[in-house]
Amino acid sequence: MTEAIANRTNRLFCPGPTPVPLDASIQSLHTDIYHRSGEFKAIFADVRKRLTPFFDSKVSPVILTSSGTGALEAAVVNLTEVNDEVLVINGGKFGERWQKLTSGYQCKVHEIKLTWGHAPDIEAVLDVLRANPNIKSMFIQANETSTGVAFPIKEIAENVRKLRPEILLIVDAVSALIAHHVKLDSWGLDCVISGSQKGFGVAPGLAFIALSERAWQTAKNNLRPKFYFDLNTELKTQVNGQSAWTPATTLVLSLQAALDKLEALGVDGCVAHHKLMAEATRDAMHALNLELFSQSHHSQALTAAKLPNQIDGNALLSHARERYGAFFAGGQDQVKGKIVRIAHLGIFDCFYLLQAIQALEFSLLDLGHKCEPGAGVTAATKLIRKK
Ligand SMILES: *Cc1c(COP(=O)(O)O)cnc(C)c1O
Repeated sequence: MTEAIANRTNRLFCPGPTPVPLDASIQSLHTDIYHRSGEFKAIFADVRKRLTPFFDSKVSPVILTSSGTGALEAAVVNLTEVNDEVLVINGGKFGERWQKLTSGYQCKVHEIKLTWGHAPDIEAVLDVLRANPNIKSMFIQANETSTGVAFPIKEIAENVRKLRPEILLIVDAVSALIAHHVKLDSWGLDCVISGSQKGFGVAPGLAFIALSERAWQTAKNNLRPKFYFDLNTELKTQVNGQSAWTPATTLVLSLQAALDKLEALGVDGCVAHHKLMAEATRDAMHALNLELFSQSHHSQALTAAKLPNQIDGNALLSHARERYGAFFAGGQDQVKGKIVRIAHLGIFDCFYLLQAIQALEFSLLDLGHKCEPGAGVTAATKLIRKK
């Protein structure tokens, strides 16, 4: 065994940062580029245009230099006012982030708290909206990364729209995009957010935020004080191939190269690939005698599996890192040490996923878990070969 891992390299199997393809990471060595030059303007405009189909928005998304949370904050700051009544769907750590952001910005927050591992019940959402006719906007995740559950955004949007056509639907799709469809215009959403280090396969540091035409109107009329995250200032500058402040030029170059790969598959192809990777992972988890943590609506971006009582999740994670260079994510808060999260998000092939499954299996076996060596990879391979 020791010989087998003599030259181990780090491999990221966590839901962000995801592996960056070599073609994309090489681009970020070009540090000799001036962001106000004609050359960079053309690149920036090209990248915004090519991001647009992944958001399905009429207006191309604004690119922010921040992590995904910066764009979440931008949504709250530009689309709500002090004392606005808002509805937050809280199904895990990221739902909690919407709750903290909206209440921090002095909105009156109605919250639907879900049991972790579950998706929201549409009738329960409609009940809260019926009981609170002053709710102006609704905040939700497309994919709750802490639990591995993808929320049924299309159905929720359809039903909410019928009841309350004017409500703003604000969707954190940071970990959903590329792995799932999240269609701003076709589904009647108002704001869709993502980030570079998840499905887009670029290093951390860029966030993307797309708004519907009426959400842009709301942003124009917004009264809150703001500066760096003023989306109107950004949009005015970005339609001319610039950004208001210095952008992360190297990441934009990297993103341009990553988009070549994403476009080669196309939006539908990316989603189909992630669906297959997710199904293969779920089959592998069953073969490794692990139960899924998600109770329904399993994410195509990552799989969360319960660990048996005798396995300490924190020990498993550090063992996988130290011995195999395999970086999985664990559970947070109430499920700390109790689950493992395996990402299949971003730009990679099935061989990369098979490595993740094998590294997890080695680590489980090392910690005394009972399963047949090779069972995980065998199950995943059978599913992949069948399709
Ligand atoms: C990763 C992630 C974010 C953004 O996190 P940052 O660390 O700020 O990039 C937001 N929402 C979800 C669902 C995520 O998975």
